[in-house]
Amino acid sequence: MSGFEGSYLGANDKISPRAVMECKICWTPYDPEEGDDTRQVLPGTPFIHLPDDWSCPNCDAPKEQFLVSHDPGSDAMAEAAVLSAKTKALVTDFTEVWHAKMRDVPIVNKLLHVQAVGWRMHEGRPLGILISPWFMNLIQLPAEGEDWNDLMAGAKEVHSFPSGQYEFICNTREQTGGYKACSLFSPMNDFKSQAAAVEVAEAVMVALFQEEHRAETDRSADIRAAREEEIAAVQAAEEAAAEEAKAKEQPVPILTDAPTRRQIISAGMASSEAD
Ligand code: FE
Repeated sequence: MSGFEGSYLGANDKISPRAVMECKICWTPYDPEEGDDTRQVLPGTPFIHLPDDWSCPNCDAPKEQFLVSHDPGSDAMAEAAVLSAKTKALVTDFTEVWHAKMRDVPIVNKLLHVQAVGWRMHEGRPLGILISPWFMNLIQLPAEGEDWNDLMAGAKEVHSFPSGQYEFICNTREQTGGYKACSLFSPMNDFKSQAAAVEVAEAVMVALFQEEHRAETDRSADIRAAREEEIAAVQAAEEAAAEEAKAKEQPVPILTDAPTRRQIISAGMASSEAD
């Protein structure tokens, strides 16, 4: 019911919780960091959460008379909207793969479903984790306006993060377009629940940006060797699913994102799950 005159035209969803507003009658500001002690509004209260009967502490003008002065959170909000749209598309795409091609593959963990976790912008590109019943990958998507549709599927790239260097494999899918994936876990049988997988994914997104995990990363060759067998099994299962689909003259599933490496960032945190 409350609205803002001026460029926002009452669109509450266009201002962030950090927006500093000002009364257009007397120019008294409302800064959420300060709140409003004349009305017992606590510091940290966003303008959009003020009671409907709140009014200008100076001239008593109603909320609707306030304009955006400046909004330090608006970029963050725009970013969140982009991330939300991109991850939603990714989840839809892989959920379709799950229902169409992977459901009956023995190696899948049926306790899990496709979910995007911990997504953020990193160097201008969406970065986050995709959990599925058969893999957990760290995924990078193109920046706005960047075209990854002609990525060479299977091409490998090494990306640096504070915790170390990680190998990403390029891929494209019809719906998702180009993306780069770093395999964290595959198969996913060690996870007892979706919540357990989400917890590990969240921990990975924190550890990825921590330098103290760099030493662990250097052990990646050991981990890789230890996991080769399991990884091969997943690939075989995916290839079998592809063959089966082909035999039925269905479109051949494109699952070249088959994990080939299990990276060490997950190893320390995963040990409680995996062992
Ligand atoms: Fe006022």
